[in-house]
Amino acid sequence: MAKTETPRRIRGTQDIFGDEQRRFAHVLSTFERVRALYCFQRVDIPVFESTAVFARSLGETTDVVSKEMYTFEDRGGDSLTLRPEFTAGIARAYLTEGWQQFAPMKLTTSGPVFRYERPQKGRFRQFHQIDAEVIGAAEPAADVELLVLADQLLRELGISEGVTLQLNTLGDAATRDAWREALVAHFEAHRGELSEDSLTRLEKNPMRILDSKDPRDRPIADSAPDIDAYLTDEARAFFEAVTAGLDAAGVAWERNARLVRGLDYYRHTAFEFVTDRLGSQGTVLAGGRYDGLIGSLGGPETAGVGWAAGVERLAMLVEPHDIDIEGKVAVLPVNGASELAATAVAAGLRRGQVVTELAFKGNLKKRLQRADAQGVDIVIFVDSERWSAGELEAKLLGSGEQVVLKDHGSVDIFDSIRSLAFATRMGLPGDAVTVSGGQLGFIGNAAVEE
Ligand code: ATP
Ligand code: MG
Repeated sequence: MAKTETPRRIRGTQDIFGDEQRRFAHVLSTFERVRALYCFQRVDIPVFESTAVFARSLGETTDVVSKEMYTFEDRGGDSLTLRPEFTAGIARAYLTEGWQQFAPMKLTTSGPVFRYERPQKGRFRQFHQIDAEVIGAAEPAADVELLVLADQLLRELGISEGVTLQLNTLGDAATRDAWREALVAHFEAHRGELSEDSLTRLEKNPMRILDSKDPRDRPIADSAPDIDAYLTDEARAFFEAVTAGLDAAGVAWERNARLVRGLDYYRHTAFEFVTDRLGSQGTVLAGGRYDGLIGSLGGPETAGVGWAAGVERLAMLVEPHDIDIEGKVAVLPVNGASELAATAVAAGLRRGQVVTELAFKGNLKKRLQRADAQGVDIVIFVDSERWSAGELEAKLLGSGEQVVLKDHGSVDIFDSIRSLAFATRMGLPGDAVTVSGGQLGFIGNAAVEE
């Protein structure tokens, strides 16, 4: 009989585990903490939407809509698409849920998004984004608030060094139309030198030629007219208000007049936080103002601005992260007869908020080795007979010292172990934890052998 082939992981997807998982979780928890400091509310939206939600809002000519979407027909014959980004879904929710009454809304979300792209380092088909949006605020202060939030997030992740905020304005509708005309004239004049891709862009989305990576396009893109000459007074004032806000908040930025965003709905502010530490996948966080989006979904004209960042790209930049500052304990029964007592002790420790590992198998020596490898601070040896008298033996793996702990009734033994594990993890010196001749003294919660 033929052996059944084991299933493969789908190309461009990931199983996130170990150190990678710790970095990943660190990015998400830091984002949760920082968004709360800025009073942004968390929202969770569906992983799939009607295809029209993305096609209409992102624009049919964008890379995402024309080449990258996971679109399928469900059993009822409806065309659905796995979300390739968050903004369109949040805008859809804003309309369906009648959230106009709460405007302006400051929202964040995070989770998996899907794009059919060629997988490579920092580029996946299922990846994860964190996302922040302000809906219903046309003021430049909203753009500033989002950018300061992004800047603080990168600082708190410890990766702001070497990451630059590049800023541009795409102007208002009048600015964009005039600039677009000038761009088309310029590119038409250099038709013969453009790449095939850019010739298509010239028909559909000429602005996109500006950020082409094709070396044939670069000289023509670089010599294209800047938007500055076409800015209306209003658009210019808006951009100046954003940069003044950033300066006031102490956020460094630089102007990149070539920066355009892939999606059609952008107006005014466009920005990217970029680094050279990730090779060609150098954009870690990107966004801008999308005042035209909600209107394109059939809603009332509503201002909006937001950004998204790739969790994987941020996680690649953070230092390996140790999330356990609590102190960790392993519970080991000293013999087969003590297994149940160990189960009871482990349950007590966990109910007492102690991070506790309970080994399932192996002899005492094997289990000790494993505890050491798992970064355990203290091993608790459980002997069922001594435990019935309220007694446990603990070994501090760092120093190798061994102490006897006794339940006094007045001081909960699990509480004492928690303090001891924390002190050991923090490397508190002898005056905080003293162990001598089997005597343990602990400042705060005393656990002392009688
Ligand atoms: P790129 O130019 O790298 O394709 P993009 O302009 O398509 O990026 P956005 O739509 O702005 O990206 O998405 C915001 C962020 O999501 C990016 O800055 C990046 O960090 C991340 N990102 C985008 N596509 C991928 C992907 N395929 N895999 C991993 N992260 C991604
Ligand atoms: Mg892309």
